[in-house]
Amino acid sequence: MRVLITGGMGFIGSHLADELLKKGHAVSLVDNLSTGNIDNIKNIKDHKNLSFKIESIMNEKAMRTFIKKCDMVYHLAAAVGVKYIIDNPLESIQVNVKGTEIVLELANEYGKKKVIIASTSEVYGKNVDGVRAFKENDDRVLGSTTISRWSYASTKSLDEFLALAYYREKKLPVVIVRLFNTVGPRQTGHYGMVVPRFIKQALMNHPLTVYGDGKQTRSFTYVSDVVKAIIALAESRKAEGEIFNIGNPKGITIEELAKKIKKMTNSQSEIAYIPYEKAYEKGFEDMRHRMPNIDKLKHFIGFSPETDIDDILTKTIDYFEK
Ligand code: UDP
Repeated sequence: MRVLITGGMGFIGSHLADELLKKGHAVSLVDNLSTGNIDNIKNIKDHKNLSFKIESIMNEKAMRTFIKKCDMVYHLAAAVGVKYIIDNPLESIQVNVKGTEIVLELANEYGKKKVIIASTSEVYGKNVDGVRAFKENDDRVLGSTTISRWSYASTKSLDEFLALAYYREKKLPVVIVRLFNTVGPRQTGHYGMVVPRFIKQALMNHPLTVYGDGKQTRSFTYVSDVVKAIIALAESRKAEGEIFNIGNPKGITIEELAKKIKKMTNSQSEIAYIPYEKAYEKGFEDMRHRMPNIDKLKHFIGFSPETDIDDILTKTIDYFEK
């Protein structure tokens, strides 16, 4: 197949490109390098089945050419990262809503075989009733529109609505994937992501910046596991018109994560507790806990993540050390 990956030079997009090339597909990438990096594709950029363009998905004319030439689209391009969203509120909304609209509209016009829409666990918002794994059809609880963070969940929810509307009204075969915290080599900490930030801080013997009291939990999934699940869903007829959580059901507190990384890197770093307002903005709200229920994923494609947190950290620390 000829596949187009929007956001193909990003962290997840580039790993997806590696895997699709291995499977023998012809792969085209489009990325404006807002959070992506050309270095992410240095191992594949001369591959005979790869082409890439540095361009924004907001350029409809360029997107028309790319989408015309492919059989299917993995739409990963988006403004991502809590810090990035807070620092670039307008651009984030425009790219995440209009960009996705352009992709879906053109994919429909040219009758593409499939469109994978990358969404996020952020759409669940705050869990109000304690520690519990989110299910795809759960209610969503978002904070006030005065808090920039919630715009990300809102734009991505709109992407999901749009994709489902194209599926229902136009019969465009779409699959929506809600990615939980995905980590691994090539991820950058510039836009807020905790694992690359802690690893870099630890390796440089700088303080590990735990935000809040550190008792909040997250579950981390290795990027190769995520990529495998995305491809399996793209290959499944049954998955069309459906939404799937992709993540690791096992959680860890951020404080524990900091301690683990400190130990694994033999770091001299201290652990510094930073109030949220100092780390982000006044009134910032964090999710206390966020874990996926992956029963649906298991049922549809038999997926369970293979890489546990120790393995994930070993591999990622190794990458950063190099
Ligand atoms: N976090 C932290 N220190 C950092 C960056 C993030 O303690 O330097 C916390 C953040 O407040 C959140 C968790 O780590 O509770 C995960 O943050 P990330 O931005 O990686 O992803 P999120 O789950 O918030 O989208």
